[in-house]
Amino acid sequence: MEHLRVTRRDELAANLARLTDRIAKACAAVGRLPAEITVVAVTKTFPADDVRLLADLGLRDVGENRDREAAEKHAACADLPLTWHFVGQLQRNKARSVASYADVVHSVDRLSLVTALSAAAQHAGREVTALVQVDVGTPAADGRGGVSADRAPGLAEAVAASSGLRLGGVMAVAPLGADPDGAFARLARVAARIRAEHPDAAILSAGMSADLEAAVKHGATHVRIGTALLGHRPTPFG
Ligand SMILES: *Cc1c(COP(=O)(O)O)cnc(C)c1O
Repeated sequence: MEHLRVTRRDELAANLARLTDRIAKACAAVGRLPAEITVVAVTKTFPADDVRLLADLGLRDVGENRDREAAEKHAACADLPLTWHFVGQLQRNKARSVASYADVVHSVDRLSLVTALSAAAQHAGREVTALVQVDVGTPAADGRGGVSADRAPGLAEAVAASSGLRLGGVMAVAPLGADPDGAFARLARVAARIRAEHPDAAILSAGMSADLEAAVKHGATHVRIGTALLGHRPTPFG
């Protein structure tokens, strides 16, 4: 009964249809257009074959959070017309590698990393789009990485002044167990401050499987979706 087997492609197609519907509803609720939202499929822990299937289903943006895994998948999918996003915490000593394949780095959170990425991008002869990751936590709900809102505009300035880097905008991860609405509202305020100086820094990367609606409400241009597209990862922190 081969024809009754649900293939991985069917599964991904069904998840993508549900996600597309969620985004359409979230946009309709706040008077935005789905075309304003780019879905970054966060494929960490899932095989390159899944990236290939997602590309076949029309997705063009892929996100990874670990350098080695990302580099391997990028190499395995070099024939596909994809934009590669690095969304995880980044060590300076991985900057060389990441700048060789990443088109967008979402996790720029300190000056030493700006310097390292700028040198690495120039070495690779590439221009890498960098997003300033902003800590949108509160004393009650710990942030999940990023520079403080106060210091974000200064870090954005440093990115904009760095050869090899293009300031793309901002990114945040909402604190665990807290209302994402307030967190993304704080991110939107920081984004507006930065855009006032850098009108081209239009990317607002916010929203994951659990909180994309709140992110769309607060102006997300990029949502980073793992679980809702690919299913549950084998380990909670994978
Ligand atoms: C894993 C990850 C995501 C995707 O998370 P889901 O909840 O599975 O959608 C988004 N952003 C970052 C930074 C991640 O590490």
